[in-house]
Amino acid sequence: MAIATINPTTGEAVKTFEELSETELRQKIGLAFDRWQTYRTTSFEERAGRMHATADLFEKEADLSAELMTTEMGKTVASARAEALKCVHGMRYYADHAAEFLADEPLADPSQVGAVRALGRYQPLGPVLAVMPWNFPMWQVMRFAAPALMAGNVALLKHASNVPQCALYLQDVFRRGGFPEGCFQTLLISSRRVESILRDPRVVAATLTGSEPAGRSVAAICGDEIKHTVMELGGSDPFIVMPSADLDRCAATAVEARVQNNGQSCIAAKRFIVHADVFDAFTDRFVSRMRELTVGDPFEESTDVGPVATEQGRADIEEIVEDAVSAGATVLCGGRRPDGPGWFYPPTVITDITRDMRIYLEEVFGPVASLYRVADIDQALEIANATTFGLGSNAWTDDEVEQERFISDLDAGQVFINGKTTSYPQLPFGGTKRSGYGRELAAHGIREFCNLKTVWVG
Ligand code: NDP
Repeated sequence: MAIATINPTTGEAVKTFEELSETELRQKIGLAFDRWQTYRTTSFEERAGRMHATADLFEKEADLSAELMTTEMGKTVASARAEALKCVHGMRYYADHAAEFLADEPLADPSQVGAVRALGRYQPLGPVLAVMPWNFPMWQVMRFAAPALMAGNVALLKHASNVPQCALYLQDVFRRGGFPEGCFQTLLISSRRVESILRDPRVVAATLTGSEPAGRSVAAICGDEIKHTVMELGGSDPFIVMPSADLDRCAATAVEARVQNNGQSCIAAKRFIVHADVFDAFTDRFVSRMRELTVGDPFEESTDVGPVATEQGRADIEEIVEDAVSAGATVLCGGRRPDGPGWFYPPTVITDITRDMRIYLEEVFGPVASLYRVADIDQALEIANATTFGLGSNAWTDDEVEQERFISDLDAGQVFINGKTTSYPQLPFGGTKRSGYGRELAAHGIREFCNLKTVWVG
């Protein structure tokens, strides 16, 4: 894929970018490695000062970065602004908490191991490569970069090819926030060249957020090189509705959970699994709210759903919907692209889904909801856990026994009861099964790219 800004609202190419030459790429890796030798020795206070300064800039420039996001990948400008401010929150959170999260962990009674002092100490690893997706072009990067830089690592970003201006903005804002040259660098390269970076001995680890094929490739190469990885891959989150749920609140949240980010979020609720006793009542509320959404120009403040980010992305959605419909599924709303320019796809609800349809197992990366009717909690869990993914999960019930059952038996990295899966800097984020491994955010996220060194002093 060419490195270019192509506005998904119009389909027009706005700007194209030259890839880095091989010499430029090696120079940047060299700069990262050299910078790390000194950056690793800086104090938490120095790093926090720079992180707060970067956060201040980010906050002041939220409208600017929002415009870049909306232009490059089509999210509504209101959600883009919210994403910028979420980055600010994440930066400040790690600026304020990194020292505490990475404090020495002394053994209370070192004599047990024959020492006068024994402890665990977190130390940075070095230059880490981040391979990132376009869907949250600032936040996905920031949730890696803020903890990585606060831990004393340096970052190399290979961003998705369709968000180069977001990638360059990130590099620029860290530099202006006072991080020395080489602490955070954007590499404008195609994904073909990722392997050569992973094989470079100066790059010590990698994190990837994206699709399963990309994750498999990066994890395999890093496995071969014995380098640590964190994988945040796809999801097809269940959203279960039980009879005790508050249906109005639940249906309103269900719509938000499905169409957020124009339906392109790994933690969007994608499969709505509803108890037969409330199936009709929930469906009426859900479908009518999906129909009421305003689809259109993402720069309009009144727009709820903008275009899908890429032409291929929309084609993939159409293919999976067509597969279901041709095998007998029922479309309750949407299901057909509108005429006109841009890669729009309407909010869609599909039911009468059977196991042989692709939509039963696969992720749909767009505003398409699958709706299932179930007889009881066992069947709800069976369908919820049927996919190869295990990222987020949602269950709506006021019954405490049912709540505990969902917490215990949903096979996912996260379970949200009476709410929608959301990432918060304070909570660990990650998946099970083919949604990936490792954790981002909270204390766990900053420790992923640290060496926990055992110290024994006799
Ligand atoms: P891709 O995996 O195609 O792209 C993500 C990043 O990986 C891009 O930077 C891309 O570069 C790069 N990439 C692609 N193939 C390779 C490869 N073989 N080796 C190295 N790098 C590669 O993802 P999509 O654009 O399809 O994004 C959507 C997917 O990402 C969905 O499945 C979604 O669920 C998942 N995702 C997961 C999230 C999570 O937190 N778990 C969050 C967001 C998305 P280039 O653009 O140059 O191809």
